[in-house]
Amino acid sequence: MSFIAPHYHKAKQHSIIRFLKRDRYWIKTPGWLKKLYPGCIWDMPKEEKILYLSFDDGPHPTITPFVLNELSKYQASASFFCIGDNVLKHPATFELLKQSGHTIGNHTQQHINGWKSSDKYYIENIIKANESIQSTLFRPPYGRIKKSQIKLLKQEMPGMKIIMWNILAGDWDAEIAPEICFERMKNKIKSGDIIVFHDSEKAAPRMQVALPQLLAHFSTLGYQFKKIKE
Ligand SMILES: [Zn+2]
Repeated sequence: MSFIAPHYHKAKQHSIIRFLKRDRYWIKTPGWLKKLYPGCIWDMPKEEKILYLSFDDGPHPTITPFVLNELSKYQASASFFCIGDNVLKHPATFELLKQSGHTIGNHTQQHINGWKSSDKYYIENIIKANESIQSTLFRPPYGRIKKSQIKLLKQEMPGMKIIMWNILAGDWDAEIAPEICFERMKNKIKSGDIIVFHDSEKAAPRMQVALPQLLAHFSTLGYQFKKIKE
């Protein structure tokens, strides 16, 4: 398998080509994939009814505050994996995020793909992002990181933990109707799952529908929402 998480570009193409080239991803991460990356965290303890929401690719000046507002309705904490360039572009939103008490994590400076980057360039990009983000948690963009990069990261930034996920909302996927984004993951979500959404323009049409549904549904079932601690 050569895919973990999808890519973001879609051209208008013939339908069969489009079918073959479609973004493919697992809503629930398969166990064998987790075993391929033992140096990474894929889920959290399952004993209590706790879910770990995470939001990648921000901060964004309107979408991130939307998320913060929704979370506050349920006293929910979450983790935000920020892109360094977006932190520099939107310092006030980043400040708001920091003040909100949620966890902030590193998602590289320019959202680079580990599989397409040299190890040195990849680690330098993470170090650059940490000048502004200052976190001990890292999430690889697209979930794509080479084993050699994991090793080098642990050498260069010894305290850094790599946080993957157990559930992908697929909120970036424009082929998914906003109303079904939550429906298709609802029955796959279990205690201790790390769930990925995006506070980005591309994902907003689906995230802004699915996130309130998820919060309402699982809080009614007695779940709490917590951040991943540094
Ligand atoms: Zn990302």
